[in-house]
Order: sequence, then structure tokens, then C-alpha cells
Amino acid sequence: MEAAALNKEVDLLILGSGFGGSLLSLLLARQGLRVAVIDRAVHPRFTIGESSTPLADATLKELAQRYDLPELMPLTAFGPWRRRHPELMCGLKRGFSYFGHSPNAEFSPADQLLVAASSDDEHSDTHWLRSDVDAWLFERAADRGAMQFEGASYRLSREDSQWLVAGEASGVKFSLRAPMIVDATGAAGEVLRYLKIASQTHRLKTNSWAVYGHFENVTSVAEMLDRRQIDRRRHPFGCDDAAVHHVLDDGWMWQLRFCDDSVSAGFAIGQPADTPKPNADGIWRQRLDRFPFLRQQFAAARIVAPAGGLQMTSRMQRLTSLAAGPGWAALPNTAGFIDPLHSTGLAHTMFGVRRLAEILLQTGTSNQLLAELGNYSSTLIDELRLVDQLVEGCYAGLPSFRLWSAWCMLYFAAVTSMEQSPGGGVAAFLHADELRFLTVVGEARGELQRASDAGRGPAACDRFEDRLRQVIAPWNRGGLLDRECNGMYARTAKPV
Ligand SMILES: Cc1cc2nc3c(=O)[nH]c(=O)nc-3n(C[C@H](O)[C@H](O)[C@H](O)COP(=O)(O)OP(=O)(O)OC[C@H]3O[C@@H](n4cnc5c(N)ncnc54)[C@H](O)[C@@H]3O)c2cc1C
Repeated sequence: MEAAALNKEVDLLILGSGFGGSLLSLLLARQGLRVAVIDRAVHPRFTIGESSTPLADATLKELAQRYDLPELMPLTAFGPWRRRHPELMCGLKRGFSYFGHSPNAEFSPADQLLVAASSDDEHSDTHWLRSDVDAWLFERAADRGAMQFEGASYRLSREDSQWLVAGEASGVKFSLRAPMIVDATGAAGEVLRYLKIASQTHRLKTNSWAVYGHFENVTSVAEMLDRRQIDRRRHPFGCDDAAVHHVLDDGWMWQLRFCDDSVSAGFAIGQPADTPKPNADGIWRQRLDRFPFLRQQFAAARIVAPAGGLQMTSRMQRLTSLAAGPGWAALPNTAGFIDPLHSTGLAHTMFGVRRLAEILLQTGTSNQLLAELGNYSSTLIDELRLVDQLVEGCYAGLPSFRLWSAWCMLYFAAVTSMEQSPGGGVAAFLHADELRFLTVVGEARGELQRASDAGRGPAACDRFEDRLRQVIAPWNRGGLLDRECNGMYARTAKPV
């Protein structure tokens, strides 16, 4: 006899149980909302997007306190995380390290930039092993009463302002109804596709793709520098305890080291994704072969995840034209994505979760709710477009490590000024609502073009840095571009 279908009416449906969907369901279930979460995959599963920032951690802490969820607190800093949850793999992230490389050339010690984010290990940011963290958050949401369906196949429909998700998960048939749905499916954009919301990806300037995986036996940068007798005493933190960036002629490589010494590594390449390319393994080998430093780092490396081997993307950038409307909203990573550069994904998702939770918990009229959703949508899209500008300028500065590094200072000025001002986290992400900052970014892009057109030589770089130093002054809390820092920034660390 066939089992009866589970038939439920809830307040909110969430499609996707990445950390964003699970966190939102946890907050809202804690507040007494009836929430159902549906995911096509089953936890634990490999996911990319692992490097947190002070803004991400501060927002998570604020959510834990505001919604009385003490179980989230250990995940807000490296020290408590390791003591309370040694079973959840993470890595120490004291800041951002950058090393410039030219093809087939030895590494030059001048091409280094280190920007501190945390002042000690205890309060430090972390890299999240997403398979562990996402599964854990999914379980915590269940503890707080969220209804969950993983490994689900389902059909989405809408009738009379009610969303209906009907399908099957783990052999159980279900039929769920709600007046509101949140799309947390990331690139899949299930609700956006259902509603036929137009894309505006064509307006994005960044054009990059990536190939990545998790490895063991990757030689640390510190050891590579020691072998070359390059002095590391100027570094404000251990250069591997960071989001490590190897800046190349047409893109960059990220390396995030976890506590078990495995390393998440990937190339992000700033070329149109439709350029013909061989398979992922071929690309990986070709790229390592061009850069002696990287070739040596990976000489004994072996891929450990995902099970299917290296992952390769098409163009990473995407942007919707609407991120919310009557009865629906999309989380940031569903509304759009730019690039792993600057590690904006986790923090931006936290911002989106915080705003949506506030909106969905309010008891105002339906017109007020609609207005709030409209603001949510336009703010989110403005933020993604600013991230696009902050990323695109880095690629445009290549192959000059100095121009790349100087352009990064716009991001660091925006983010550190938010991190270091009390209440800074409630404004738009990275000052995306501040006309003065947007104007500075736009004008700086013109200056960057002039420096590139002038041949990217030392004089052009000097002029560009001098100009940037002046224009970022209102947001510059960490001595960014101060000559005496010489690329080593300790004062950018968030205050403890
Ligand atoms: C190559 C790369 C590197 C990145 N590196 C960083 C970084 O270093 N730092 C950082 O902050 N951010 C990074 N990001 C961004 C980061 O991955 C995202 O911000 C983050 O994953 C957002 O989490 P999420 O839960 O909203 O979405 P996701 O992690 O995308 O989760 C989506 C969930 O939806 C489920 N799903 C998919 N389709 C469906 C469907 N049709 N129905 C139901 N469920 C579905 C999936 O199984 C998954 O569980 C990176 C992104 C990429 C592509």
C-alpha cells in the first residue's frame, strides 16, 4: 500500500539548504515561524565558498545574539570554534595574502601584499569546510523546528498567491504550501526561473571562470619563501593563515589551508569563458607549468575532493534584474555572483539573511511588506554591481601586481571602514548606498585605465597610488597605501 503524502501548510518555503538557506530557516524557526526547507542534494556534500571575513563573523554573532541562538556563537571566531567544535573542519584566516608572479620567471620579494583582518588567532576569521558547516547548520535548523526535505525531487507551482512544492524525498511524498518562498538555490535560481525573471548579467563587467578542488600535500608559501631565503619577518601574520592569492598575468589562484593541512585551491581566470580550453586537468597542469613557484608548491599535491576530481565553471558572473517581489525573495548568491575575489560571498549572504529575517518577521501591512521587499531587491542588486566594479578593476590592472594591489585598496577601504565603525554593519554592503564612494570607484576606474594605457610602468603606478591614497581617505582606517607600510598592513585588523 502506498504511504500517504505528507500534506502541510507552512509560513515560509525555502528552496536550498546551503549555509544561507539553513541559517535563515534556523532564525525564523527560532522565532516560531513554520518553515520548510527543500534541497535537491543530501548533506554532507562538497561546496565551494569557504573564506569568511570580519564582516561575516560580526554579522553571524549579531544574529546569534539577536535571535537567541547561542549554538551559533562558536562559529564566529577561530578560538571558540576549535575548542567547541573540533569535529567541524575549519582553517585559520588572519587576513589576505597576495604574491605576484610572472610566467616562467622567479618570484620577486617585492611582489607581496599582506592585509591583516584579525589581530590574534583567538578572534580570527576562519575558512569553513562547507560540507561540514552546511550539514551542521542544517541539523541545528532541524533542532529548532524547521521541517526539512533533502535529496528531494519536486515540482514548483503557484496558485492564488500560494506557493506549492510537491515531490518526494527519501521515499516520502510531500506537498507543501506557503504564501512566501525564498530562493536559496544559488546558481540554480529555481524561483527566478519559475517566474521568468530577466537576467542582467550582460551589465556586469567582470568576465572570469574557475577551476578548483581540495588538495593534500601542498607546500606552504612560508616554506617556499624560506627556500628562497626571503625574509618573512615583515609579515603581520603567518602568510598561509590567510586567504592566499597568487596573482598571475591573466587571473589569480586562491589557496585556503584547513587545520588538517588540506588546501582548497583554484584558479580564477579573467578571460572570456568561451575561449576554447582543454579539460580541467589539462588546464590545471598548464597553469602550474607556467609558474615555477606554483609548480613547486603542487609538486607532491594530490586532489582529495570533490570525489569526481577538479571542478571547472563556465563564466561565473550572473545577475538577476529582480531579487524579490510579492510572495518571494532570493538570497544574495541566488540573485547574483561575481567572483571569489575579495571573499564577499559569505558576508554578503549573512547581510541578505539578516535583512530578509527582519522583513519576514515584521507584522506590518502587505503594502509595507511589498515596499520592504522592493528595497531588499534594489539594495542587493546595487551591492552586487559594486562588487563587480571592485573585482573587475583588479583584473583590469593585470599583469601589473602594483595596479592589482592598488585597486584592492578600494575594497579594503570599504570593508575595513564598515568593520571598524560600530553599527557599520547595518548600512548597505561595502557602502553600495553611498554616492560619494560610488563616485570615487567610478573615477578611480578612469585613472586605472590611464595607468594601463601609459604602459603600467613605475611612474604610472606611482601616480595611480597617489591618486587613490587621496580619494580613499574618508574610508581609510588602516593606513592603506601609506608608503611606510610597504604592502604590509597590520592596522587593518578588526578591533577585538
Ligand atoms: C569558485 C567559487 C569560490 C568562492 N569562494 C568564496 C570565498 O572564498 N568566500 C566567500 O565568502 N564566498 C565565496 N564564494 C561564494 C559562496 O560560494 C557563496 O556566497 C555561498 O555558497 C552562498 O551560500 P548559499 O547557501 O546562499 O548558496 P549555495 O552554497 O550555492 O547553496 C545552494 C543550495 O541549494 C541547493 N540546490 C541547488 N539547486 C536546487 C534546486 N533546484 N532545488 C533545491 N535545492 C537546490 C544546493 O544543493 C545547495 O545546498 C565562492 C563561489 C565560487 C563559485
